[in-house]
Amino acid sequence: MLIDYEKDLEDILKTVREYYPRFGEKEADKIKKAFLFSQEAHKGQLRKSGIPYFVHPVMATKTLLEIKPDIETIQTCLLHDVIEDTPITEEDIKREFGETVLYLCNGVTKVSRMSLNKNASEAQLANIRKLFLAVAEDIRVIFVKIADRIHNLSTLEHLPPDRQKEIAGQSMNVYAPIAEILGLYRFKKQIQDLSFKFLQPEDYKRLHHELELYNKEQEIHISKIEIAIRDLFKKHDFPVLKIKSRQKHLYSVYQKMKRKNVNSPWEIFDIYAFRVVVPKTEDCYRALGILHSEWKPIPTRFKDYISVPKANGYQSLHTTMLGVGQSPLPTEIQIKTEKMSVDAEWGPAAHWAYKGASGKSFDEEYTKKMGWLQEDLTSAKLKSSQSFFNALSSSILKERIIVFSPKGDIVRLPQKATPIDFAYAIHSEVGHTCMGAKVDGVIRPLDYPLKTGNVVEILTRQGRKPNGAWLNFAVTTSARQKIKAEINRLAENRAEVYKEGLEAEIAEAKRKRFATPVTRPTQSEEKLPGKYNIVIGGQEGLSYRLAKCCAANPGESIIAYNSRGTEFVIHKENCRVAQKLDSERMMEANFIMQRKFSIYAKDRKGLMNDYSATMSGEGFFIWDIKFRRLKNNRVVWTFVVNVPSDRMFQEMIKKIRNISNVLEIKMKLENEK
Ligand code: MN
Repeated sequence: MLIDYEKDLEDILKTVREYYPRFGEKEADKIKKAFLFSQEAHKGQLRKSGIPYFVHPVMATKTLLEIKPDIETIQTCLLHDVIEDTPITEEDIKREFGETVLYLCNGVTKVSRMSLNKNASEAQLANIRKLFLAVAEDIRVIFVKIADRIHNLSTLEHLPPDRQKEIAGQSMNVYAPIAEILGLYRFKKQIQDLSFKFLQPEDYKRLHHELELYNKEQEIHISKIEIAIRDLFKKHDFPVLKIKSRQKHLYSVYQKMKRKNVNSPWEIFDIYAFRVVVPKTEDCYRALGILHSEWKPIPTRFKDYISVPKANGYQSLHTTMLGVGQSPLPTEIQIKTEKMSVDAEWGPAAHWAYKGASGKSFDEEYTKKMGWLQEDLTSAKLKSSQSFFNALSSSILKERIIVFSPKGDIVRLPQKATPIDFAYAIHSEVGHTCMGAKVDGVIRPLDYPLKTGNVVEILTRQGRKPNGAWLNFAVTTSARQKIKAEINRLAENRAEVYKEGLEAEIAEAKRKRFATPVTRPTQSEEKLPGKYNIVIGGQEGLSYRLAKCCAANPGESIIAYNSRGTEFVIHKENCRVAQKLDSERMMEANFIMQRKFSIYAKDRKGLMNDYSATMSGEGFFIWDIKFRRLKNNRVVWTFVVNVPSDRMFQEMIKKIRNISNVLEIKMKLENEK
């Protein structure tokens, strides 16, 4: 192995210069100094592999640079093993590099000394992760530690087998989840693949080999698909920045195979996804519209993570279509802007580089997006000059309550957290199926404010679903997002059931040669199709029956009566029987339907944004979007939306009609183009 430290130093400086604003002599000197100091200190030391020790901090630093760290973090990474492994003292570091770098180096050492009980339970692991974050005190310590760990994992074959397993296990259970929490998705994937190789060498080898075969076989399809997508956008004269195929990383293929209980990668359809990068958010929807008008999308697989981002802040449109480039498999396409694409790999870290004229503040706006940090960082504190990192560290240590599970597991929550927050902090499934809670042995309501020291036991029931009302008192961002996501998911499932029913109905109508299927909606008075669902108190999936006294029809105003039996009883809002019932036990209820309509307009910038803002603003869930360009700069967007009530739908349509450049709105049949 040829070692050329001068070239390494040059490479490092070159990389930093590219992302660091106002990178001058002073900054370069600081890095150079740390580099040479560490090189000198490690002189003569060898790694277990027999190569000079200094190669290790250099390689770790190169990995670290991918997240564009500040100068002190780079210095720390270069120096991270100096105090532990060489005669250099803390005093020396402080004198040469200042207090911050010493503080960070000590943080790295502290974290390194934490060991892991090999038989730790999942709950203990969760605590160890938290402890790591707390012990590190400054998040930059974790960045260095992760880079250090990635290099150690990549040279793990030089250690004895039992050490290999130990380090790989800790990496998989502690470092990978922490990388995920911090949004360092690309690091997470590297750590998982490297650890997996040592934890389950047989499985790794087999899958590695199979994936090679699979890739070889897919190559031809992949390039055909790329060409087909490229040609389509060209035909529409649509600006696309990038089209890239992306392969799932090995460990996630393994996990998916296990989850689906299948034995080979050939049975996983989404090993490859295609990423289409477009200039602006509104272009994402337009690109989607173009794709959908060419190939048949699988409705259940369309995901709008732009208007409803994932809990970790991930944004993108996902769609899966059939027949792209004559591919035998369904093709998943993710449509993003450049920014969304970078975020998907690096999360907020991509924005952690110094920026702006002051040179002191990190991208605060962006940090707000990050789920678990959000609740802590949107506080007034961060708006002051306090750095992001300080805010982060203090949020981990302070302003939190600590409560316990009956087994003694520790859960940290923000002030005013409730049993619902606790349930979701334990596990999403515990949250979703939460029925009630015991606090210190006493049954308490789900909005009961918890205090430090409480022992909280969550009572669950299979099949129970989250309630929209929980959003009134859940305080943690993660609980709120999980509740919303699950409610949306259930709504989608309902809509799918409805849609299938409707399709069957239309097919049946055609078979019987009805000229007009029964489902044609008109703008004024209308008879809605027979398939529907009822949302009760904002929650879908509750069981209900229609009261015989008034037999409500879809489209009518209704209420739900909690009969304290196993199901709700649905009455018309003006039903005389219902008016005599206990109003305390009434809940609001709505029929939910889907409608398809096309909006014709003269094209202009921001048109789609206005559509989607109006629809989401009015509480409509967009199910499908299509786009077609007509003559004379006219465009038509076709939407399928979930419709909570006719009144709301009419109001929304009225608003759309008022959007500038809109020419005409046409109601469509479900199967009408
Ligand atoms: Mn190290």
